Amino acid sequence: MRPLIIPFFLRNRGCRHRCVFCNERVIAGNAPPVTEDAMRRAVREYLASSGGRYRPAEIAFYGGSFTGMPLDEQMELLGVASALIREGAVQGIRISTRPDDVDGERLCLLASMGVRTVEIGAQSMDDEVLRMSGRGHSAGDIRRAAALCKAKGFETGLHLMAGLPGQNRESFEATVADVVRVAPDSVRIHPVLVFRDTELARLHARGTYRPLSLDEAVTWCKGALLSFARARIPVIRLGLQATGEMREEGCILAGPWHPAFRGLVEAEIFREMAWELMDRVPSNAHEAVFHVAPADLSSFHGPGGRNRLLLESRFGVPVAAKPDPAIPRGTLKLQDGQREHGTSIREVSPRV
Ligand code: SF4
Repeated sequence: MRPLIIPFFLRNRGCRHRCVFCNERVIAGNAPPVTEDAMRRAVREYLASSGGRYRPAEIAFYGGSFTGMPLDEQMELLGVASALIREGAVQGIRISTRPDDVDGERLCLLASMGVRTVEIGAQSMDDEVLRMSGRGHSAGDIRRAAALCKAKGFETGLHLMAGLPGQNRESFEATVADVVRVAPDSVRIHPVLVFRDTELARLHARGTYRPLSLDEAVTWCKGALLSFARARIPVIRLGLQATGEMREEGCILAGPWHPAFRGLVEAEIFREMAWELMDRVPSNAHEAVFHVAPADLSSFHGPGGRNRLLLESRFGVPVAAKPDPAIPRGTLKLQDGQREHGTSIREVSPRV
């Protein structure tokens, strides 16, 4: 069961470097300062809004480098979160941090305070891309930090970005392959956006940085999603969560912004899967009927029903989709009389 994540944004606390793309004020939106009162209030509100459906709740400290903060600040936040665990309000704690802020001593402290999950800001496994992005750490730091977190029994997540300075598609694909070898428990992928008040905005204005187009970002991230699906590594986030600030004029200066980015990527994948199966539709069929998990129905149809229209115009037969709770997510089945043909996201080639 996916946990209910209750996020608290630390707004660059613990960051010794300022990454060229980072504007935490925009990413965090108007999140209030993280105090005990604010945490308790947010936990109450999140639990109340979950409508009584039980999901294990986790407090998440994002938006900085948690283990880069002074020890007393870490202890203060973890103390409140641990108290909320003891009171039964939440069941776990997750933090995000930089790979060069991970060592055995700091991980022991996290474990003793109830932290279960460590999400590491990797962004890329290409040292030159990391250098040009102002990260201040190497790919070796990422491998070492991930191995240490896994060895200490933490659920280990890695954050990646698509479209960083100096990154081309080959570099991004090599990063994905490297991360598959690292085998984290989860991955988040964010296409790079050019936010105001960042070094990236200045590079973009000078013409020395070109962001990905939306189509490029979808293509790159589709390949990544397929590679991670094959490796059974869940991609728990694809695209940034929209905040009110992002919708303000002049906040996103350039880049592949879309409020439902993951939906675009998954729609491409489902179209390919359906395309593949359409060859099995008998030439005298009156209709091609696909069965799909209810949660994948919108991906099957694509934005504005585009997938269905494309399939119908290419193959000349009406296409219908039936939501079927018995079908696992990421799977498509085509009913052909008594016969059934199926495919899944794990069978689609990452590079087309
Ligand atoms: S480490 Fe993370 S929070 Fe800190 S500046 Fe870089 S991207 Fe922003």
